[in-house]
Amino acid sequence: MCGVLGIYDNEEVIGKIYDAMLTIQHRGQDSAGILTYDGKYHIKKGNGLVQDIFDQRNIYRLRGHVGIGHTRYPTVGEGSVEDAQPFWVNYPYGIAAAHNGNVTNFLELKKDLFEKSHKIINSNCDVEVILNIFAEYLERFTSKEFTPELVFNAVKYVYKRVKGSYSVVIHIANKGMLGFRDPYGLRPLLFGIKGDKMVNSYAFASESVALDVMGFKNYEDVGPGSAIFIDNSKNRQVHRKKIINKPFRPCIFEYIYFARPDSFLNGINVDKARVELGKSLAKRIRLSNLDIDVVVPVPDSSRTAAIQIARELKLKYREGLVKNRYIGRTFIMPGNIERIKSIRHKLNPIRHVFEGKKVLLVDDSIVRGNTSRSIIQMVRDAGAEKIYFASYSAPLANPCVYGIDMQTSGEFIARDSTPEQIAAKIGADAVIYQDLDEMEKDVRKQNKHIQSFCKACFTGYYPTGDVSSEILRTIEKERDDNKCKVNEEDGTDE
Ligand code: AMP
Repeated sequence: MCGVLGIYDNEEVIGKIYDAMLTIQHRGQDSAGILTYDGKYHIKKGNGLVQDIFDQRNIYRLRGHVGIGHTRYPTVGEGSVEDAQPFWVNYPYGIAAAHNGNVTNFLELKKDLFEKSHKIINSNCDVEVILNIFAEYLERFTSKEFTPELVFNAVKYVYKRVKGSYSVVIHIANKGMLGFRDPYGLRPLLFGIKGDKMVNSYAFASESVALDVMGFKNYEDVGPGSAIFIDNSKNRQVHRKKIINKPFRPCIFEYIYFARPDSFLNGINVDKARVELGKSLAKRIRLSNLDIDVVVPVPDSSRTAAIQIARELKLKYREGLVKNRYIGRTFIMPGNIERIKSIRHKLNPIRHVFEGKKVLLVDDSIVRGNTSRSIIQMVRDAGAEKIYFASYSAPLANPCVYGIDMQTSGEFIARDSTPEQIAAKIGADAVIYQDLDEMEKDVRKQNKHIQSFCKACFTGYYPTGDVSSEILRTIEKERDDNKCKVNEEDGTDE
């Protein structure tokens, strides 16, 4: 998963874009980059957190009224700095791009671009492929007048060739800025307008919170299969186009785990969605007749749902697990590998909340079960008498090919197990899951225009209809290979 930003402003953008980058840091902590334009491109990318990469010197260098920002969580490639976004090409015009998503035919397109178009893709980052395909289309028409229609046709060409999920922000030097979402609108992208000067300012962002901090009060979602282009004319005209008609299938996991609670995505506030998820999970917990003394959230994403569960069931709610907020990129020193891998590195229990109590722990999801197993052990060591574990999402059992780093299929604890078997595996006295249909109903409540979400990680049904078992195998192999590389580098043997 990644976070993407684009801003076309009336003043230097670096201050705003830096602040906005901090609000999308949760979407990717592996690397980050900012590109600005003032007649030439200025760029700074690096590995690590935004705060670690940008300093006074490079911030000063990033000049211009136009900028693109990106925070990266690698789904393709092993996360080296060469794969950090944004990317740019110098022909035609000068075009820069960043995206959020995952291109499922990346390797095939990379090969095609090399063999048929004689272009080298120098990174393992899928936006480089999208950028080159987009540029390839525009190249053919450089002798013709540059129009918004031409830009939309270039997007159509991308849709024809690029499979998977992608929300893209593109800047075309001296022509304008563009944002578009893949045909199914799998990943989010919002568009903001600010009209306090003679000429409007515009911005694109993965989450509305980034637009909030940049001062954009009016925003809309870029539609699925749609593009918005702001031209470079004196009045900066906005051109919108629905380019392809496919069923809208935004990712449901954004609301469960990924996005910030203060964000609105596709007209749905994340916090409100989690309140609804808490309400319906409370009904299931009531039916299981458990004797519970206290409800405790696993910080941070599950807090909203846990509060709601406690309220519905008229139970005591307590914060019992304290998260260390100051763990950034941990420096791996000899002898501390095991400690870093341990949950204790991140969380510590407040003993008296658990001592002698029957506890309901609430989390957003269970993936491999390692986190929940460690937390349950920690809570037992703190003296809990009974531990029930509730997940406000349904059982996860399938890899995500659309940009969420969601394990290879064999690793899902829920793949071949019942809740009772899972409880035994993670050491809980009981495990209660959300119901899949309820979950979708809860999230959909705020926007009934969405007929269905992408729930592939729950159901194994991939809405783009082109995810063959071979693609799944290739993606899983990539992930396994990368995991081996990373583990070789940090000396772990997982
Ligand atoms: P585990 O069951 O040990 O694999 O970890 C589950 C925990 O990881 C849950 O508490 C989630 O909050 C968190 N989680 C869920 N999905 C992801 C993801 N794609 N990347 C990182 N953490 C995740």
